Amino acid sequence: MPELPEVETVRRGVEERLRGKEIIGVEVRHESIFDAIDAEGIKSMLLGNSVERMERRGKYLIFCMSHGERILLHLRMTGQLCAFDDDFLDDKHCHLVVHFAKGGFYYRDVRRFGRFCPMGLGGKTEAGFECLGYEPMDRQFTLNYVKEGLRGRHCPVKARILDQRFIAGIGNIYADEILFRARIHPLRPCDELTNCQIKRLKKACETVLEEAIADHGTTFRDFRDVYGESGSHQEHLAVYHRAGEPCLVCGEVIAETKCVGRTTSFCPKCQKR
Ligand SMILES: [Zn+2]
Repeated sequence: MPELPEVETVRRGVEERLRGKEIIGVEVRHESIFDAIDAEGIKSMLLGNSVERMERRGKYLIFCMSHGERILLHLRMTGQLCAFDDDFLDDKHCHLVVHFAKGGFYYRDVRRFGRFCPMGLGGKTEAGFECLGYEPMDRQFTLNYVKEGLRGRHCPVKARILDQRFIAGIGNIYADEILFRARIHPLRPCDELTNCQIKRLKKACETVLEEAIADHGTTFRDFRDVYGESGSHQEHLAVYHRAGEPCLVCGEVIAETKCVGRTTSFCPKCQKR
């Protein structure tokens, strides 16, 4: 699932490739990718309009249209936004095709869990968006904010940093990487973290995501940017997907456990319980 660094990579690509171009054609093939609007509604919203700016908050993209509309897009598991010049490799997983006078972009989604949702229409996607906490790049993401968010909670720290209402943008890959960087066991209860550990956790949230953005995200299978390119951060992961392999810091074998149903990798020596 695309997390903050992958979604940021898509955002930057859209800004480079799609902004300011007038939309002259819209093909909707699967209405189920829309939330709170139908095919005709989205067509009349897009035609004659253009993307003025692309914003991002957590894992949500926000199309800011030149006519003033704001349309949320959550890519969920396998959503992809791709630009094209002339032709593209069309298949049954392309659910929306948007045409400019020359080229355009399409939305492809194998699992079809992703959603476009115009803001202001009361969609479910928008409700999730409204509840987002701060993200590690925000000025408001202070040590105090992190401390308050952990205080009095006995759940595992990994479960807490996956909660989008606390920190927006972190998913399973970066949660494991952040906790490794901070040298904190993923199952450690929030209310047992020391001040030092909380400081390291905050710092790790920032640096791990920044490094992943610099690598254009992580691609295991599905993630592509708008140019169809893979990210390269999978080459720099320390623990995620590395169970059974030696720790890059101490050589201990990376272990695997479950946390809130998610596969969780950690180093038993660097991240003591
Ligand atoms: Zn280690």
